[in-house]
Amino acid sequence: KTFKELGLIDSLCEACEKMGYKLPTPIQSESIPLALQGRDIIGLAETGSGKTAAFALPILMALMERPQPFFGLVMAPTRELAYQISQAFESLGSTINVRSTCLVGGMDMVPQAIALGKKPHIVVATPGRLLDHLENTKGFSLRNLKYLVMDEADRLLDMDFGPILDKILKVLPRERRTFLFSATLSSKVESLQRASLSNPARVSI
Ligand code: AMP
Repeated sequence: KTFKELGLIDSLCEACEKMGYKLPTPIQSESIPLALQGRDIIGLAETGSGKTAAFALPILMALMERPQPFFGLVMAPTRELAYQISQAFESLGSTINVRSTCLVGGMDMVPQAIALGKKPHIVVATPGRLLDHLENTKGFSLRNLKYLVMDEADRLLDMDFGPILDKILKVLPRERRTFLFSATLSSKVESLQRASLSNPARVSI
């Protein structure tokens, strides 16, 4: 199946083409239609499978229908991964000028707070720094969030971000869609899944 046959609108199909994506990868073929139906998703997939676009494209579809600041949040275990994900959102969403910002540790808080003041559509963050901004950056709130992604959830939990994730989940609206991607399905990942997803569709490749 083509990207169009998965239900994506033309401008996103064109963005995929521009990125050199000819056909959807298996994780994209499985996840995108379910996500477009409004399902929560638990995706078992490794880096390199195309999982970033698997969650970014449905979020961009929804964002195009109703553009709004702080529409989507992606939590990732490392700075490098966070930057890659943010870049993917901006590239795939370039036709509608999607703005994404990264909140990662080890960098100055102030430029990040200024970027938040510009009200990006998408925030990609490592959990510790996100919590720091939620607690200390005036005017920053995720109360209108529509989509949450936890990427590489097994690594997030191995790095002991669990208690921080719990605190963040408490301040996110319940009325949202959630995608959890993980290379493995450990008992820790399963309990995070139970705490944060509702009736998820399970996708594995
Ligand atoms: P990811 O697993 O999301 O880190 O993606 C791995 C690599 O595959 C990235 O360089 C993507 O740009 C690329 N990619 C994602 N989707 C496709 C696709 N449908 N066709 C070709 N390459 C892709």
